Formats: sequence, C-alpha cells, structure tokens
Amino acid sequence: MRKLIIEARVNEYMMREQGNPNVPYLPEEIARDAVACRDAGAAVLHFHARQADGSPDHAAESYADTVRRIRAASDILVHPTLGYVTLDQGPEARIAHILEMAKDPAGAPHFAPMDMGSVNVDRYNAQARRFETTELVYRNSTGTLTHFSDAIRGAGLKPYLVSWTIGFTRYVGAFMDMGLLEEPGYLCFCLTDNTFLGGHPGTLRGLQAHLDFLPPDRRIEWTVVNFGGNLFSLAAPIIAAGGHISIGLGDYTYHELGQTGVMPTNVDIIRRVAEIARELGREVATPDEARQILNIKN
Ligand code: ZN
Repeated sequence: MRKLIIEARVNEYMMREQGNPNVPYLPEEIARDAVACRDAGAAVLHFHARQADGSPDHAAESYADTVRRIRAASDILVHPTLGYVTLDQGPEARIAHILEMAKDPAGAPHFAPMDMGSVNVDRYNAQARRFETTELVYRNSTGTLTHFSDAIRGAGLKPYLVSWTIGFTRYVGAFMDMGLLEEPGYLCFCLTDNTFLGGHPGTLRGLQAHLDFLPPDRRIEWTVVNFGGNLFSLAAPIIAAGGHISIGLGDYTYHELGQTGVMPTNVDIIRRVAEIARELGREVATPDEARQILNIKN
C-alpha cells in the first residue's frame, strides 16, 4: 500500500475563542506550525491567511509572505486556500493571487484548490433550529472550473480537487474524460459535521457513499476532511482502505485530545495520526514521497 499522506489543516477561519487557543493566525505562526507538523509526519500544509485578531486577511502579499516563510523553513508541500477574494468576482480574480505566487520559485505553492461544484455554506445552528445566514453559496460554475483547470495546469501546479457530494466527484470524472485534469488526481472528500449540511456526514456511511462513486478506471488518490467534526473516528478505516488524512485545528477544536486545561496543538493531532498509521502498519509519506505519489512537479 502507498504511504500515508498527512495534511495539516492548521487554521481555516477557526477562531481561538471557539475553544482552542492554539490556532495559528499570522504568517510566522503558520510557518512555525508548518515546521513542527512536518517533523510530526505531515507532508502537506493547508492554510488561510489571517490577521492578528483572527479575521480573514485577503491581501495577496500575506499569502505570498506566508508561503515564502514556510518554504524557507521546511520542505512541506503548501496548499493555500482559493478563498482570498470574494466569490462574486470572476474566475480570473479568484485565482490571480495563486498564479502570481507561482511565478516566484521561493514563494510558489504546490497545490491550487478546485471545489468541483457549488454548495450552500450557511451555518446551521441545531440547538436554535435555525440557519445563521441564508444566502451563502460557494459557487463554482462549470465555466469557472474549466478556467481554473487550464490556469492551474498552465502554472505547473497540482489541482487539489474537493468533493462535497457525489455530484462533485462525477465532475472530476467528466473533467478527466475531457482531458482537463491529469492522473493521478488528488481528491479530497469534504465531510461536514454539525455546522454545514452541504456535505456527507462524517460517518463511515458518509465516506463510503463517496468511495462508491469514484470514477472507475481512473487513478485517484483520495483524502478525507471532516469539517466541523472529529475525523479520528474514521482515521483507522481510511488508513486501512488506502486513503489519506487531512486534519487540523481549522476543522475542529479536537478538545478530546487535550488534557485537563490544556488544549491540543496541530502538532499533537498530526502526531496522533502518525501513531495510528504505525499501529496499522502503514508508513507515513515525507513531502518528497508525497510529491512522487501525486506527481507534483514544482
Ligand atoms: Zn481551507
């Protein structure tokens, strides 16, 4: 079985006030986590640029600064978000910062994300039985995705494909059929627990439904996120089935890993995943090995 690729999803837009003070915000904090997570077994780092108070930082320079700091300090593969501009802008504007970064070898990311469809992303409050917003759509039209696939390939980056539901995965198959995506594809199943209802639940059945609809006869390496929930309940079956793991404080506080009064860090989470892999007899990939598995060129 191929080695396990562990991705550290260090922050998303998780706020420290939501329960874990160890979420990194600033470029130097993200870079520090990158180095430590790499040492603990992570081959990929995913981040969102944040300001000192935790609010989103939309400046392209902050993304470039963060990637440069990470690459100067570590060989970990870098996966920044595409969420830097507002979604009501066109596809060219949404991906501009990634293409700009790709021109500078010291600051180039390795991946550029492509969520292969559109989905409602309003937060649902189950206790209050209401949606906190009602008009938030993560919109990725077919035309936008076509533009992204051309631009990402042109820049020499690896598309980080994201599937929220089976329909997204069918798009991956169609884009491979059209020659717009190369094999092996790297496909992330984004399970969503608790807050967002647009993905499959973070359960074995939620994951299995995804796996049942992987395009046949295509080389696809798949990884799993549980956005809003604890992915450890699925870690062993994912590792045993040959999947990869994408996990971190961006998705969930992981308070279950902490001790009294001490919340876990991203490093604690990555270390635990690596331990589970070793217990199951599966080796953990270094960044270089992940690069070979996924055929990453830069
Ligand atoms: Zn993200």
